[in-house]
Amino acid sequence: MMRKGLQELLSDAVAKYQPKILEFARSLVAVPTVNPPGASYKACIDRIARELSAIGLEHEIVEAPDAGAPPRYSLSSFYGRGKRTLYFHGHYDVAPASGEGQFQPYLRNGSLFGRGSSDMKSGLAAMIYAVKTIKDCGLKLDGRIGLAIVPDEETGGALGSTYLAARGLLGVNGIGMLTPEPTSGVVWNANRGAISLRITVRGRPAHVGLHYRGVNAFERMVTVANALQELKAEVESRKTAFQIEPEAARRSILLLGGRCEGGTNFNAVPASCSFTVDRRLNPEEDLETEKRRLLALLERLKRDGIDLEVEILQEALSAGASEEDPVARELAQSVKAVTGRAPRFEICPGLLEIRYYAHRGIPAFAYGPGRLEVSHGPREFVRMKDVYACTVIYALVAARVLSSR
Ligand SMILES: [Zn+2]
Repeated sequence: MMRKGLQELLSDAVAKYQPKILEFARSLVAVPTVNPPGASYKACIDRIARELSAIGLEHEIVEAPDAGAPPRYSLSSFYGRGKRTLYFHGHYDVAPASGEGQFQPYLRNGSLFGRGSSDMKSGLAAMIYAVKTIKDCGLKLDGRIGLAIVPDEETGGALGSTYLAARGLLGVNGIGMLTPEPTSGVVWNANRGAISLRITVRGRPAHVGLHYRGVNAFERMVTVANALQELKAEVESRKTAFQIEPEAARRSILLLGGRCEGGTNFNAVPASCSFTVDRRLNPEEDLETEKRRLLALLERLKRDGIDLEVEILQEALSAGASEEDPVARELAQSVKAVTGRAPRFEICPGLLEIRYYAHRGIPAFAYGPGRLEVSHGPREFVRMKDVYACTVIYALVAARVLSSR
């Protein structure tokens, strides 16, 4: 089928579903899936499952068992036949409310307001209705569309995507992945990785008059910090080839002392001092390699007699996929065909769940109807026009990438 004909077919179908897409997005926003702590997850996953049933899509819900936390539910669903799978991946948890009435969604001037409208419940509605569109238009696919819907993205994904990935349930036979995060019109094809530490250096306390009896933890900490400064200089000479503005943002990152504390008063030798290290890797850098280097440096200082303790606060993989990848090209062409403008490709400023797929060698990209600048804010909203356009774009990409060859 010609591109023009296919696009028209899909946009006509989406035009008919607009009231349903709006109603579904609105109903999802009304469920306060606040994370932390991970509230109302059951109600939300049930609402999503109901919509899938109404559309005629079989699905499976996986519960992540964890004693301490409230239960975590992920959902997967497949449409089509064969092995090769294009994934649409999204999260249903939202950042805590930062304004009044954020879980009473309302429509004004064509925009849906409420927590999660932009990040990313409207995106979930778009990706699910893209599958319905393909299904109802009766397009034959050479492969499948896989829906992966997860909790906990806002807090690092331990019992969401990390849990699924560890059980081999994420990205099976994937040939590509799209996630409708609020990208403000661009495509994020990369994200930085992270390894964040807290280092606590210990000494021995003593009164200032008896300072010779003490061991100064602050002075020891300065030694540790100096060693890290040398590594920092080297790390910052590395620049990513992925697109990010301005030039200074291309450098790999090692942030020292984002939080530091220690000592009790000016007249006492400090017994302990701690500070954080936030190492953000460029997409080209490997988490394990960079982690090993950082920890080896600290081990060396320990062997030299500095009593220190390292606590890992978080770690996350970096990811990056080429703009020349066939899925990237189909996405860029579809965005241009539907919105009239070719999207730029950029590194995501934060972490992104494309990393779970990229780690398996699956080209993964974020593109969604929301805007980053309003997400997590007190007046979060999404323009429904953009949600409908995103639905067409996702359907178009799937139809093109999985077209019968
Ligand atoms: Zn998000």
